[in-house]
Amino acid sequence: MTIYGNEPALQLIRTMAASDRLPHAALIYGERGRGRKTIARYFAMAALCKGEQKPCGVCSSCRKVLLDTEEVHPHPDFIWVEHSGKKQGFSVETVRGICKDAIVAPNDGERKVYLFADCDAIDIRAQNTLLKLTEEPPPHVLLLFTAEHRNVFLTTMLSRMMPFAVRPCTAEECRRALTEDHGIAQADAERAAAACGGNIGRSLAWLSDPELRELTAAAADATRAVAERKYYELLRILAQYEKDRFKAAELLRLLDLQVRDAVVLKFGMKDLAGCDRDSAQTLSGVISGGRSRILHEALQAAYEALQANVSTKLVLAALGGNLLS
Ligand SMILES: [Zn+2]
Repeated sequence: MTIYGNEPALQLIRTMAASDRLPHAALIYGERGRGRKTIARYFAMAALCKGEQKPCGVCSSCRKVLLDTEEVHPHPDFIWVEHSGKKQGFSVETVRGICKDAIVAPNDGERKVYLFADCDAIDIRAQNTLLKLTEEPPPHVLLLFTAEHRNVFLTTMLSRMMPFAVRPCTAEECRRALTEDHGIAQADAERAAAACGGNIGRSLAWLSDPELRELTAAAADATRAVAERKYYELLRILAQYEKDRFKAAELLRLLDLQVRDAVVLKFGMKDLAGCDRDSAQTLSGVISGGRSRILHEALQAAYEALQANVSTKLVLAALGGNLLS
């Protein structure tokens, strides 16, 4: 399994596995599509491996984890905890079931690994039910959590988890992953990697989804309109999404990354996360640090208003004014 980016995290996992010092709970957090679940699988592989250099990638246990996908889980001791409830969190019953199951010895080897993936909607009741297991897990248990942000967890939970922040891949690492692992043509991989800020998961979605490509183009146009202070042009771009709350929110998220990139470019740094370097560059030429913060806050406020079900049309109209005030 080739994993692009995040080598320091993998190195740490290997070192801990080699000295038999893997933690009992870990949180892998960061932006969606950055490889949180891939790192979680690597962690599971290292914990369950029966070979010498863990994870060896060739023993029966490693091979089962390698065959693991979101739908198929061939290793009996690598357990994906099922999401439940309206918000796709974890219900108290589900968590209670896991706490009971965790006491039972492993099926196949020395450990049992539980993966709570995408914990962004995990609620306080579920966490309180999990707390005891996280504080005093049976020696064979490893609990893995993935989430976009750390702050969805109670501090009592956080204090028991070893944190791993997923690092963005460089555009080059992303391009290599797309061509080598996913068989994507060089030119397409380059365009996708650049449009998705080196995010492999998003690049794959971008390549297969024309609507996402249209959104990234709109975000680039909007960035240019803000830089050139073209008020009506900006309103025209935003108004295209006034009937689609979901796409409008995604556009705001992309635009926020563009503003971030403009600042990054201003400081001569290279770690870009947005969808269009050229327009971010144009914006960076005309924007101050204070101004970028105002743009970021306006975008954040609009994003939150969309989540709170304020009329999409109103939110976008107000945003157009706020971005160029
Ligand atoms: Zn192995």
